[in-house]
Amino acid sequence: MNWKTVREWLKIYYSREELDRLRKQGEKDAEEMALDKMLDKNGREYKSNDIQVTCIHCKHAKFGLGQAQLNTRGLTFMGLDWLNESVHTLICKRCGYIHWFSGEVSEIKE
Ligand SMILES: [Zn+2]
Repeated sequence: MNWKTVREWLKIYYSREELDRLRKQGEKDAEEMALDKMLDKNGREYKSNDIQVTCIHCKHAKFGLGQAQLNTRGLTFMGLDWLNESVHTLICKRCGYIHWFSGEVSEIKE
């Protein structure tokens, strides 16, 4: 299949409007991805039990979300195996203080 055949094929299956729409969707996706990247870099706002999380050290409100696995033999040995599963960590984007949550943490979206 040469390029001309491909173009003919595209013309049949996609109208110009459709191609325009696809191109715009692609641009929008790229913009959203860039926004996502920026939010990851600057941190996001989170809540736990409907209370907004602020850093206990510096009072900043933006964090990077992480997860940690707690079911290690060491914890079982210390009698902490009730924690068992994974916990959420919120790392303050300003001072780096790590907050640990064994319950749900959800992002606050505007
Ligand atoms: Zn902080």
